[in-house]
Amino acid sequence: MKERLRRILRSTNATPVIVLDEIDSEGLRGSRLQKTIIVEKDVENLVKFHNGIFIKKRISRRYCPVCGKRMRKYGKTRRLELYKCSCGVIIDKHVATSYNAILGP
Ligand SMILES: [Zn+2]
Repeated sequence: MKERLRRILRSTNATPVIVLDEIDSEGLRGSRLQKTIIVEKDVENLVKFHNGIFIKKRISRRYCPVCGKRMRKYGKTRRLELYKCSCGVIIDKHVATSYNAILGP
């Protein structure tokens, strides 16, 4: 993962912006997921080394990227997990997460 990120950071002429979903490090202490904290620090160091911008924040998955309301599960295919908002938006969970990572609070 680190080598792939390093390759991406080297290949761009623009300032890279990396948004990482913030994890509750206290909740992970002593668990198998504790390694995630180490990876997070590695990613931050790598991004800063390449003069990028590193942002850590809680990214909402279930909130509509258009109006901000909570969405409901709508359906599932082999590749997509769809959510629907009362404003009419139907969106894949991962796409909504990506929008919220960039545009969300
Ligand atoms: Zn909406």
